[in-house]
Formats: sequence, C-alpha cells, structure tokens
Amino acid sequence: MSAPATHALMNTVIRPPQVFVRGRGAYLYDEVGLAYLDWVQGWAVNALGHSPDVVTVALARQASTLLNLSPAYYSRPLLQLAGRLTALSGLDQVFFINSGAEANEGAIKLARKWGRLNKGGAYEIITFDNGYHGRTLATMSATGKPGWADYYPPQVPGFPKARFNDLDSVAALIGPATVAVMLEPVQGEGGVIPASPDFIAGLRALCDEHGLLLIFDEVQTGCGRLGTLFAAQHYRVQPDIMTLGKGLAAGVPLSALLARRDCCCFEPGDQGGTFSGAPLACAVALDVLEILAQPAFLANVAERGAQLAAGLAGLSARYGLGEVRGIGLLQALVLPGCDALAVVELARAKGLLLNAPRPSCVRMMPALNSTAAEIDQGLALLDAALGSRRQAA
Ligand SMILES: *Cc1c(COP(=O)(O)O)cnc(C)c1O
Repeated sequence: MSAPATHALMNTVIRPPQVFVRGRGAYLYDEVGLAYLDWVQGWAVNALGHSPDVVTVALARQASTLLNLSPAYYSRPLLQLAGRLTALSGLDQVFFINSGAEANEGAIKLARKWGRLNKGGAYEIITFDNGYHGRTLATMSATGKPGWADYYPPQVPGFPKARFNDLDSVAALIGPATVAVMLEPVQGEGGVIPASPDFIAGLRALCDEHGLLLIFDEVQTGCGRLGTLFAAQHYRVQPDIMTLGKGLAAGVPLSALLARRDCCCFEPGDQGGTFSGAPLACAVALDVLEILAQPAFLANVAERGAQLAAGLAGLSARYGLGEVRGIGLLQALVLPGCDALAVVELARAKGLLLNAPRPSCVRMMPALNSTAAEIDQGLALLDAALGSRRQAA
C-alpha cells in the first residue's frame, strides 16, 4: 500500500499508510476494507469504542435541539453535567473546556490564583520527570518528557520536577514559592507507570502538612479507564483539583477542571473559552457518564484489565520480554532491547493497532466495553506479531 500524498499536512506526526474510513465498536476499517482490532481507540478517547449508539444518538438529538451558544449563557446539558460530575467526583465546582491541555492550563491558573490570594504569591507547581500534561506552552513546561525543555524556549517558569514514586524528591523541592503538586496517578505517555499507593497517600499528607494543593491530571486515568470512575477512587485519595478529558464524551472533544470549593477562586473574566460548556458535548457526556458510572460496567473494565494483564504476562514469559505494567484497561508491555515501533508495525500487519509511548514499550488502551473474546483476539494477534518478529530476527 503506498502512502497517500501528505504534502498539504504539516509534518507533526508519522502516520502509517492506511487511510481509515469507518469504525464500529472495537474495530477500525481501512479504505481497502481490512479490519483492525483497535487498542489505541483515538488515544484512549473512545471509551465505548468507535461510533457507539449512545454517542451518535445524543449527537443527533442535541445537534438538532441546541448545538452551540455563547459560553456566557446557561443551557440544560451544561447545568446537568456540572451537577452529575461534581456528585460523582466529590468535588464541588467544574469548568468545561475542549482538550486535556486546556483543562490542565486552567488547573495551573486556578492554583496560581489561589496562591496569590492565600499563600503570599506562591506559584510553583511541582511536577514529575516523565510526566505528561499536554502541548500548550505552560503544560509543556509542566511536562517532564526527556528533551521537551528544549522544544520552544524559553519555558514557562514555575514547574520544578521531582522523581515519580519518590516522596523525598518532592519534599526536597517544597519552598516558600510552592503552591501545588501536580501528577498523573498513572503516567500514561511516560510508559504506563502507576504511582504506588504509598506515594499517593504520602503526597496527600505532604500537601496537607505544607498547605499545598494536590492536582490529579486524570485526563487519561479518569472516566473509567482504571476500573474505577476516577483514579482518585482507585487510590482512595481525594485531590483538591482534578482534570478530565479524553474519554469524557467518548469521542467528542470535551474536558473538565474540577475543584474543591475553597480552591474555586475564579471570578468572572478570569477564565473562559469560546466553546466552554457548549451543549453539544455536554449532552453527549451526560449520556456517556450514565454508562461509565455503572458498577457493572466498571467491574467489566477491571476484569478485562486483569485478563489483558495476565495474557501479556504469558506473552512476556513465552518470548522473554519485560514487565507488564498498568491498572484496568491501561496496560503496557516492556520490550527490553527491542524496537517497540517495529512491534507496532508487525501488529498492524496482523490487524492489531497498538501504540509505543516509549522506544521500548507498547501500550494498550482498548475500548472499556471490550468483551473477553475481543481481549483474547488482541492477545492472539500480538502473539502472532511477536512470533513474526522472532522469525525475522
Ligand atoms: C492526553 C493527555 C493530556 C492532553 O490532552 P489533550 O486533549 O491532547 O490536550 C494531558 N494529560 C494527560 C495525562 C494526557 O494523557
């Protein structure tokens, strides 16, 4: 298959040659009619797989009722979603925007304003090596991916980096300018590295002791991905501020910034955005959340996650590979000394879509409503891909 002419697209990502035309549930179809079991799912966005009825029906209904209005007006979907999300999360107020990076940008602003009002102008937010928070200038500065500090200098100041799962490294950075600690409970782009429960509990205690805000970036870990609605529930620790994105409207752009009441210090004019809280995305998210929040749905995520992790451990043992890491349906297999991008290509040739967040690991983010048969099928396809790698070597 020859690559399509891409001269009209800016050179920001290397894409495989396939042009995809249709998606349904766990599967994606290309122009020549080949089917792929999709364990990328729009980068963990399609929580319910491709084009689920709940999304297409809500989109059609809301689009013909009230598609868009000024962010300075109320709509029913906006009010209902705000009520539902605050009730589900135990946080008090919410601001809606479009992308994960924008929600995090809002979290940074909220923390800085809170520091100005309550902590003598403290503004530093401790973030982590290998952490990922998005691609605006401030969220890139909060990101700890190797090399990112040099992309677009100068960086936005105020994001000292600690080591993940190392509480002492956080404590060592706390000073009079510190206002918050921000982290992903499971580092996703960093290669699926879960925080240890002790680390999360220790961070909560450290923040309480020093009067700092604890910010969970749950753009990837939230919305059911870990088998609980939020990672905060998996770890049984309540953050002061939490951001959501990706799966929140299961394929429609929407993100949220949630916070405890006494951190909610925005006043009119402090924060906004043209599409903030638009009824179309809010209506979809309301119906999606009804599904995601069901205990039986979340139990399936946990079961399928355990099935996937066990299958990956079997493949790791069979082929002499590395660690299996993850929680729920966010899993990675470490491939020591092999080129993960090559494995991604071999898997695609077998009909399985994966992603390689690091040069030596592959990540799986299947739809949260995956069946046991679909997980088994993906494991068999990965087995075939790893086997073909062996023959090639
Ligand atoms: C994807 C992601 C983001 C950025 O979200 P966008 O919608 O791409 O802006 C931020 N934080 C985490 C943890 C993510 O996984």
